[in-house]
Amino acid sequence: MIEKPVAVVTGASSGIGAETVRLLSERGFQVFMGARRIERLQALAQKYGGIPIALDVSSTESVRQFTQELPDSVQVLVNNAGGALGLEPIVNFDENQWVEMYQSNVLGLARMSKALYPRLLTRPNPVSHVFNIGSVASFEVYPGGAGYTACKHAVRAISETMRLEWLGKPIRVTEIDPGFVETEFSLVRFGGDIARASSVYAGMEPLTATDIAETILWSIERPPHVNIDCMVVRPLDQARIDKIHRQA
Ligand code: NAP
Repeated sequence: MIEKPVAVVTGASSGIGAETVRLLSERGFQVFMGARRIERLQALAQKYGGIPIALDVSSTESVRQFTQELPDSVQVLVNNAGGALGLEPIVNFDENQWVEMYQSNVLGLARMSKALYPRLLTRPNPVSHVFNIGSVASFEVYPGGAGYTACKHAVRAISETMRLEWLGKPIRVTEIDPGFVETEFSLVRFGGDIARASSVYAGMEPLTATDIAETILWSIERPPHVNIDCMVVRPLDQARIDKIHRQA
């Protein structure tokens, strides 16, 4: 029997992560999916056949338990778990929100990469692939966004450092940097305030989670000697993180 290639997607219970699970599964990957809302993962698994495992990337112990469940043959790791919390100026920053953002977007990504590195290195077939989901916030800033943009700037620094430290190893490192994507991102950021979340996309056409999941699949399918370092993908209606064209 031919073994399916194995992919791991964090933050798979919603948005970009869930859509990545769908596309990779359809392409023949065995996908292990992690997030805190296990019931959502189970529902996804029913539809696409992936394997749901509870994961909180903010916890070293949870990452240890999650990675223990994975086979040795992990070939693709999608570090997607994360998001933004709040929009307060620096002088009013909420310390708990900043800690939570650093825990998921930055430390979570580092924990997962550290835990899976030995497997990515020894079972490349012919190359392994790590994806770090950054953002246009990895290189642009906006008022009220410092906690999140600092996290995503850190993701950029980590992606570049991985490429330096892993030079000569069979592991590709790709950072995907989306602009506005309509997912639960803004709903989470604004604590469940539906009206405030939908106002983010008012009068403009945001990206969909499928648009971003397709960039991941496309990057995997390049020939093994090709590394897509970084892909910035914005809606046509977004020229910069804070420059949006909106219909009246
Ligand atoms: P989303 O719909 O809110 O999905 C976020 C996912 O991350 C959820 O599955 C959530 O699952 C998971 N997550 C959050 N904290 C976690 C933790 N501690 N442990 C495990 N999983 C965790 O938002 P999204 O837009 O798809 O976001 C995915 C990634 O894209 C994030 O890194 C985000 O920063 C980035 N991004 C989004 C946009 C955008 O406009 N939407 C733009 C640029 C970059 P649970 O709550 O079930 O754990």
